[in-house]
Amino acid sequence: MNLSFWEKELLVEKFDVTILGAGITGISTAISLVEKNPGIRVCVVERSGFSLGASTKNAGFSCFGSPTEILKDIQKMGEGQTYDIIKMRWDGLQMLKKRVNLTQMKYNDCGGYEIFMKNDPNFDEVKEKLGWINTFVGDITKHENTYKTGRNSTLAAFHKEYIFNSLEGCLQPVLMMQQLHHTAQALGVKLISNANVSHIDQVNKDLVLDSGDLIPYHILCICTNGFTGRLLPEIKVVPARNQVLMTKPLSNIPFSGCYHFDKGYYYFRNYENRILLGGARNFDPESESTDQFGLTENIQQVLLQFLDKIYPGAHNHVDSWWSGILGVGEEKTPIVQWISDHIICGVRLGGMGVAIGSYLGENLANEILFRSGRKE
Ligand SMILES: Cc1cc2nc3c(=O)[nH]c(=O)nc-3n(C[C@H](O)[C@H](O)[C@H](O)COP(=O)(O)OP(=O)(O)OC[C@H]3O[C@@H](n4cnc5c(N)ncnc54)[C@H](O)[C@@H]3O)c2cc1C
Repeated sequence: MNLSFWEKELLVEKFDVTILGAGITGISTAISLVEKNPGIRVCVVERSGFSLGASTKNAGFSCFGSPTEILKDIQKMGEGQTYDIIKMRWDGLQMLKKRVNLTQMKYNDCGGYEIFMKNDPNFDEVKEKLGWINTFVGDITKHENTYKTGRNSTLAAFHKEYIFNSLEGCLQPVLMMQQLHHTAQALGVKLISNANVSHIDQVNKDLVLDSGDLIPYHILCICTNGFTGRLLPEIKVVPARNQVLMTKPLSNIPFSGCYHFDKGYYYFRNYENRILLGGARNFDPESESTDQFGLTENIQQVLLQFLDKIYPGAHNHVDSWWSGILGVGEEKTPIVQWISDHIICGVRLGGMGVAIGSYLGENLANEILFRSGRKE
């Protein structure tokens, strides 16, 4: 790409804060910065025209944790860390719902279901501990019975009972992102799009674009989640590809709401009489640990077989396939880390960035304003 003088002139304008990545984290950080400190000059640098990671490719679940996942997390990370992560998700969702008009992002408070295989012993364990889980999570949600068991009479291939979470919902992720971009631009945030950063020159404080052009920064905030390893290999984010399908409209889909199966590795929902189904990356974790978009025969086959379990014959009615890249790691807590005096990163949102993104943005904004002396 050969930039004109005019384009270069814009690129060398010094912003107080330069954010890299226009997904939910980057845009939320920009909004929080200006809301907290009107007058601060913020730009967001993005390699695509709008956003090209997970934020416009996801399933649109506004979820904060299913019971089996919570029990597994407590086993691995302890109660304290698990509590903190659920709270981040819950608080992030409340912020998102205040910031984005619910109708405009087609928000539907349809509730979420965790389903199990027939005779899955995990179900009995979770059911037995549900009272305890409700007390644990209720401290955050302020609801007595966040999770309840219910009778599954529609998905014959699965356990006859499910666990229902009435506080979950779903949305259209691109509409959500459009609203966030709109809010950011209305607050004066500049978006520099189609600018792929090939590396960061920390000595001269420049972002170096593929084209060789430079964007100087004063404070840089890196929100590139699953793609972070390309720029900062030392940051412990593992890219994880997720493949997703959407069917054509089908008649009498026997479920509505968001569904989680196998600790969240499979997820599906009814979107305007189509079935969205995604996940199964645990079927081939090695090849799915990549930051390359793409579809693979083996995961597609697993998803199609699963699709037939929830709606027999639906494998003949797939309308589209896509993939997205999320960022995971040994730990589930997002990384908020100063890499130098002038560079901070906010990455590793796992599979719940719709929930955590706004919270993380607020947290990053506070860090930046505090470090730059703009906030006590
Ligand atoms: C298929 C799928 C389904 C999911 N379903 C859900 C769900 O239902 N609910 C939920 O809560 N979460 C879900 N997630 C996770 C959620 O989407 C992510 O956690 C969240 O979107 C991460 O947001 P982000 O802004 O941190 O990263 P991203 O959205 O990935 O944004 C990063 C941005 O950085 C840009 N970028 C990267 N490198 C460069 C570079 N070198 N130069 C310039 N720009 C760069 C990218 O183009 C991108 O726009 C899902 C993810 C996937 C992939």
